[in-house]
Amino acid sequence: MDCIFCKIIEGKIPSYKVYEDENVFAFLDITQGTKGHTLIIPKEHIKNVYDLTEGMAENIFKVVPKIAKALKTAFNPIGINIISNNEKPLQSVFHFHIHLVPRYENDGMELSTVNNYGKFSEEYFMTLVKDIKENL
Ligand code: 5GP
Ligand code: ZN
Repeated sequence: MDCIFCKIIEGKIPSYKVYEDENVFAFLDITQGTKGHTLIIPKEHIKNVYDLTEGMAENIFKVVPKIAKALKTAFNPIGINIISNNEKPLQSVFHFHIHLVPRYENDGMELSTVNNYGKFSEEYFMTLVKDIKENL
């Protein structure tokens, strides 16, 4: 499997590991978008969120607060973004991962959603709910 994150888990490519357990591996993102930018990945190779089982999700997401709190204590950020990019062109490494991005004043990061508040009718919202629930 030609996957850079699998190679990191196997130790074939070096990484700055911050956490490891039976199912999960976490290490510093090489780009350090902000101080402490960390990636959490499952040891099992899966492409993205669409391949994540509930059991794997439990294993991965239970590590998120542990590392978030460590980053908070270590670096005293003003907050933290938790991001996962899934599918091209959002995703660049096709081994599922969660970014933990501690945020600081004037850190240059632009991560905010578009605010369309007030633009849509109640009917539209109800249609969205129906479309989603039909597919759960
Ligand atoms: P994506 O764009 O798929 O959401 O995020 C992939 C992330 O993996 C990027 O933030 C990138 O910096 C990081 N990355 C890619 N290759 C390596 C590597 O070899 N080592 C580390 N530590 N991070 C990497
Ligand atoms: Zn992989």
